Amino acid sequence: MNRVLVPLQLDGAAPVLGAQAHRFCGETMGTTWQVIFATPERGVKPGLRAALQDELDLVVAQMSTWRPGSDLDRFNRAPAGTWHALAEPFAHVFEAAVWMANVSGGAFNPAAGALVNLWGFGPAPRYTDPGFRVPDDPAVQAALARSDWRALQWDADLRRAQQPGGVCLDLSAIAKGYAVDRVAQRLADMGLRHTLVEVGGELRGEGLALGGQPWWVDLELPPAVQGAHPLLPTRVALHGLCVATSGDYRRAYTHNGAIWPHTIDPRHGRPVAHGLASVSVLHEACLWADAWSTALMVLGREKGVALAAEHGIAALFVQREPDGRLTETLTPAMEALAG
Ligand code: AMP
Ligand code: MG
Repeated sequence: MNRVLVPLQLDGAAPVLGAQAHRFCGETMGTTWQVIFATPERGVKPGLRAALQDELDLVVAQMSTWRPGSDLDRFNRAPAGTWHALAEPFAHVFEAAVWMANVSGGAFNPAAGALVNLWGFGPAPRYTDPGFRVPDDPAVQAALARSDWRALQWDADLRRAQQPGGVCLDLSAIAKGYAVDRVAQRLADMGLRHTLVEVGGELRGEGLALGGQPWWVDLELPPAVQGAHPLLPTRVALHGLCVATSGDYRRAYTHNGAIWPHTIDPRHGRPVAHGLASVSVLHEACLWADAWSTALMVLGREKGVALAAEHGIAALFVQREPDGRLTETLTPAMEALAG
């Protein structure tokens, strides 16, 4: 049987009889977004689509490593010792990212941009570029020296951060989740209560779908391993709940027979290689689902399960066992949702 996860509390009225479903979609952050909502209104408010795109564009304009001239890009290029006032959304994500870095002992690291770039997962050079070479040890050490998040000074009163010199912020592990939250909030501000928002596989569900059912979503699983028994899907009722998944199978290359995923362990400066195939996290805020899934992906199953349990985080770990099988581990908070 499939595993089914349902929040401990279900509340709120279903969309009224005669409600209609609407869907909008587009592109952002090198991936796709979509929004589905159920409302009794036949038409949709003019400007709704543009309002949603505005939210996504704001996140890109402030926090993208890929958009030349974004606030983050300007911070990364700024001279050592300079202070930079951050817009409120950027500051919010920055503070959350630094919190996650502290709590995870640097497994999650918002200052890992130099390492991410070095391993070919930044804007350039890409690991897919012809002639791309795996970096040597001196290059890794040099990038590590520029990836210390503790060197970042943060002045909360003036909402400004100091560029210590050569540090490249990378908020890609958390900004997508934050964008999901912003879009969901914008829909709520427009009076829409029954909404499903997705950006690049990260989702937030509020209220209910047409027919009074929750928004049912299957957790993303690593691709099946040849010859091994496939994992059964885990179905989640996204009712006031978000999900994010980090995995070693998205954006990765193989080198000397090993998988080199785009998740870097900033404590030693190399892609993670402990056999964790994916981590999915459920949380009330997509920003936190996103941040935690990356942090746990770096920590690995043993340390990750322990830290998630300590913080009451609902997470599902999929491990590649030495014999090639995929096995699942649920944290206690995730077990509780499985009933
Ligand atoms: P996600 O898919 O949310 O796990 O985010 C992966 C992206 O986050 C990568 O493409 C990098 O840009 C960035 N990243 C990689 N390793 C880390 C890390 N240890 N901490 C924070 N961000 C990271
Ligand atoms: Mg993430």
